[in-house]
Amino acid sequence: MADIVVRIYSKSGRSRITLPVSSTLSSLKEQISTHLLVPSEKIILTYESGKRVQGTGSSKLKDLQIVNGTILNLQSEAQIPIMESGPPSGPMPLPELAPQLSTEEHEKETKEQHIRKCTHGPGTRCINCFAQEKPSEDKKKTEDNTWLCRHGPEAKCVNCLKDNFVAGIKHDSYDHFMAARMAKCQHQGDSKCANCLPPAEANYKIKECTKHAPWPASICNSCMPTTAVLARQPYRHVDYVELMNVRDVTELVRYWQQNHSMEQRGGFMYGYYAHDPNYPDGVRAVLEAIYEPMQYGDTNGFQFLDDPMSIYADMIAENLNLEKIGWIFTSINHDAFLSSYEIRQAARYQQEFFAVHPSGYKVSKFVTVVLKPTDDGNAMPEAYMVSDQAQALERDKVFGEPESRRRLVKRKPNDKELLPTIMCENKPAEEFQPEWFIVSLGCGMPKKSLLFLEHSDFPVWNRAKVPTKLDIKQYLQKYRNEPTYKKFSNFHLLIAIAHIVDIDSACEIALCVQHQKEVPRNIIDILNS
Ligand SMILES: [Zn+2]
Ligand SMILES: [Zn+2]
Ligand SMILES: [Zn+2]
Ligand SMILES: [Zn+2]
Repeated sequence: MADIVVRIYSKSGRSRITLPVSSTLSSLKEQISTHLLVPSEKIILTYESGKRVQGTGSSKLKDLQIVNGTILNLQSEAQIPIMESGPPSGPMPLPELAPQLSTEEHEKETKEQHIRKCTHGPGTRCINCFAQEKPSEDKKKTEDNTWLCRHGPEAKCVNCLKDNFVAGIKHDSYDHFMAARMAKCQHQGDSKCANCLPPAEANYKIKECTKHAPWPASICNSCMPTTAVLARQPYRHVDYVELMNVRDVTELVRYWQQNHSMEQRGGFMYGYYAHDPNYPDGVRAVLEAIYEPMQYGDTNGFQFLDDPMSIYADMIAENLNLEKIGWIFTSINHDAFLSSYEIRQAARYQQEFFAVHPSGYKVSKFVTVVLKPTDDGNAMPEAYMVSDQAQALERDKVFGEPESRRRLVKRKPNDKELLPTIMCENKPAEEFQPEWFIVSLGCGMPKKSLLFLEHSDFPVWNRAKVPTKLDIKQYLQKYRNEPTYKKFSNFHLLIAIAHIVDIDSACEIALCVQHQKEVPRNIIDILNS
């Protein structure tokens, strides 16, 4: 049964309720009651037009014109606590059943909220407070999603398993993990054993075999596709994603919120990888700029459109000495860390953008960052990769088209085709929970931005309003007193120059920015003409 999202606006902020299409008005009120801590009998709902929602408890939502995306205003006779920054004056219910903080943490958070003017109360966090925090995963307070559970007290689902199933897994840094394994090697020099062979080398295709006629005539143990035994990946190739360019992330969130978060949006992240001192042999991915390709978005997701010009972003990045480090996108789906579609897309990207590890093996460090709304109308980033196993299963075409975003499926083999067996908890399986393939990474914003790129304040390409040559002139006027390699140190400006002037000029300027050399006079004259 399909679900709908109903958006509830109240004095205490915005929230969303997910429930089955066929739900009744009373089940909606029950959900509002548990979620927003308002007694169900005191709930009064109005449409956006101001008209009151009529109907009895058993009225179907769709008969009341309450469909996916509908906004309802909640008026309540009960006092809804208004969440403001600063300490509460007395005992008040915390929104979202947020975990209680220790007094010390509480004071710290309250103080920080005063600095950045958050609109929510203590106990919740948004992108503003996030920017102030230490990049420590242990302190990461996970959102409590247990109110989404629809099962009895004995069962478990992704909402209540969150803590120990995804966030709870301690992933080792890849190099650290491999070093510990290789310490067990008994052999010398160049030979390889099970300990020093990287786990990413799995092959789920039929292998070449000299013992017999090729498949489908015959098959033996050594050429059969390797059985995939599902297991959470104990290591990760990137430990932490630093959203160094806070402005680009905030801008993406702001643009998305202009459409009430109903059109999801995504982009590629450019930046670099660095050593992360917070983890043994740790790796950190640092975001310098986001490029938003041509795309189409709706409530459930987005799709990058065929855009031959997106190569400009790669070329400019290369001349700035930046890499494509990942993708970032918005999502309003709170019932999954990553959907089955997102996992498969991440797997394809990881396969496409890999790096050669010092060990000589190909390793992907392409990260996935999801921006999800918080109840106070802000957004929170979460960073993931998918496991090497998911990457290999997607590469070897083992996954099929899923019918639900909560399930990955094995493809139905064609005639005379042999797909590997996938073992899930000691049984062959055809369907799997996405959580098996998810590797969670630390994610945060710096206290102090140390960006290589000096500026990001230029209209973003591929949005409703297309930047013009006048925008370029005005921008250059604004920074007229800066050296050229500083004022041109702006990814969005360089993208616009590539489109409006030409890509060669944009690349030449980018190279000057990288080497801190003055941009040649003749290029600047063209821009000012
Ligand atoms: Zn905040
Ligand atoms: Zn549950
Ligand atoms: Zn070995
Ligand atoms: Zn064989």
